[in-house]
Amino acid sequence: MAMNEMMAAQKPRVVGMPQTSYNWDQRDIDRCLEINSVDKFDIKSLQYFRRRLSRLNDLFFYMILLTCGSPYRLTELYSVLIRNEERLGSNVFVADGMLGLFTNNGKNSMKYSRERPILKMLPEEVSECLAHYIYFVRPFEHTLVEYQEQTGSLSHTEFKKLSDKYKLHLFVGEKQIKNSTTLGKSFRKFINKTTPKLRGIMYGEIRQVLSYFVGANVSGMIGLQIKIDNTLAEQAGHSFSRFVESYATNRDGYNHVMLQRMRDCSAAWHTCLEMSTLQIFTPSVFTRNEPPKLTGEELIEAGRQMFGQHFKFKDGQQQATSDVANCFSMMVAIDSGKTTCCIIAMLAERTHSLRQTDRGKKTHCVTIFVVPYISTLNSTIRQLTENFNVRTFDGSVGQVNDYDVLLMSLEDGHLRYLNQVVRHFQSTNYQGKTYLRRVVVDDAHILQMKQYVVDGNKNVPVVFLTSFLPQKEDATMSRLFNINSLVRVSSQEPLLPHKEFTLFKKPNTTSICQTVLEKVRSFGSAIVIAESSDKVSYLVSQMADEVPCIGIYGSPVSRTAALNKMASENIRVVVTTAEAVVGLHMLKPTTVLFAYSINNPIELLVGSQMSSGKVDMVLLNFYSSEFQRDLLDTCVNLMVTRHMRLTEQTCYEAGKERCHACVKKRRHA
Ligand SMILES: [Zn+2]
Repeated sequence: MAMNEMMAAQKPRVVGMPQTSYNWDQRDIDRCLEINSVDKFDIKSLQYFRRRLSRLNDLFFYMILLTCGSPYRLTELYSVLIRNEERLGSNVFVADGMLGLFTNNGKNSMKYSRERPILKMLPEEVSECLAHYIYFVRPFEHTLVEYQEQTGSLSHTEFKKLSDKYKLHLFVGEKQIKNSTTLGKSFRKFINKTTPKLRGIMYGEIRQVLSYFVGANVSGMIGLQIKIDNTLAEQAGHSFSRFVESYATNRDGYNHVMLQRMRDCSAAWHTCLEMSTLQIFTPSVFTRNEPPKLTGEELIEAGRQMFGQHFKFKDGQQQATSDVANCFSMMVAIDSGKTTCCIIAMLAERTHSLRQTDRGKKTHCVTIFVVPYISTLNSTIRQLTENFNVRTFDGSVGQVNDYDVLLMSLEDGHLRYLNQVVRHFQSTNYQGKTYLRRVVVDDAHILQMKQYVVDGNKNVPVVFLTSFLPQKEDATMSRLFNINSLVRVSSQEPLLPHKEFTLFKKPNTTSICQTVLEKVRSFGSAIVIAESSDKVSYLVSQMADEVPCIGIYGSPVSRTAALNKMASENIRVVVTTAEAVVGLHMLKPTTVLFAYSINNPIELLVGSQMSSGKVDMVLLNFYSSEFQRDLLDTCVNLMVTRHMRLTEQTCYEAGKERCHACVKKRRHA
């Protein structure tokens, strides 16, 4: 694994605390003081610098107050601490590098001795600033106080008091902040900077401002104000629904409802402020009801359950299975058994859930499986159906407790509803303890071949299964699905055997058709890959009289019908497009023939992987893209390895001379 993958893999996924101590190098401190013209032996100079840092602290107060979601009671926000400890309590929490604030409403705690967790999430921008502030600025401020004590301007008692404050409390200057004039000024300053539309608005108008904001900028969020009011009421402990949720159900159920609501509220607010919302906190993190973490033994056991006692993981499979089971967003790029990794993780999860349910702790895990298109001939779907309860997405998700797998199809555009589906799961998960564990995208390279609309959601890990996407595409996939970090598991030496490529250049469609026909007649069996459905239907119509052949194209239904016909009538020539064969694992390896043109390296890879060794390309003589021009005179095996970012080697260098370009090179040598 590359360095950045290692780091991603080691990055803690769940909630932790910010490190509040940074060991400043004395040289760094001196440099910092120098830049700011501060003399560490001069009392006035130190005081002045500390005042500047206090203002920064004030600014964070307003930033958090205004961006975290539903407003805090001021005293509540003052109670936020920065401590390195694991127990739940008023604190700043870290998840995947971003921050949220967690407080307990102590209002009723004496009476009912129950926790009242309050969660406010920060938008990404504020999170980043605050993390730097806590990690770097705070320890530095502490050093300044130490200098002040050394100059004698602070008594030891005062120093201890300040020192504790800097070490433990997020906010230091509360007296100033409580003054509403200061708050109003700073609010205006903040709003002027972030949202130019709101110049000149007074503090007393915050609520109207937000209502206006909601009405003017966000469609479908008219309920936000009501939501805010309700949440405030709930925080204060007076609303009816709070009564029902907190006293009529158990604590975990209550926490789920409340935390989910607070999260939604924060997210809606971030949208209003046009800031990117933090979506990585999952409420389950805060309750003692986490979905299962699976051990290596449980995974091996699930493998045996599927394949028998002799089961062993192949190269890279164990790592991939474990990462899938532990819900990393990842690219599974191992040579074989990619789907198996997911199925084993899911089987282990189900065994675990059943055991938990027997103990009275009902849990249920669901995986969304995305396939290129829904077909009974897709071996992945067959394996899923054999092992799990599968539901096919049809615009609605149905009863989430009724199935283990929700099948979605790329071709039917299901991914545009992904975010909606994920949110639905999250809003219902407290009822039956149903957890949406991950989204698996099978044959993920098809996303690169076609432009699909994806509405991603940061809250759910995404697993991509493909051997054809090079590492540089990980960033593209992350962007497409709105993922923060992607781990990659590849086989130690990715297998990409050199194939024999031959190129025939033709001036027009008629001569391409003739050459294809001659070739196919002499081969007896072949897969012909044309550039589009139109060309497939044209080729089939031209060849049908001469050679029994079948075209696989068009709707999933007609493709499935064609495949069935092919099997029953033993037709050995298949004409299709690269997209249409993705996800079909039933075609036997044979000679592969590309016709007309090849649009990108992935088509070339998908097609040539189906060949038993020989790939013929009967292409038009003129080329539009750089890739197509390269096909003329560059070693094809080199192009393929270059796309996959593998060790580049031409077949000429490998001494194999298997492609048209290398053969030509030898002739000229
Ligand atoms: Zn070559």
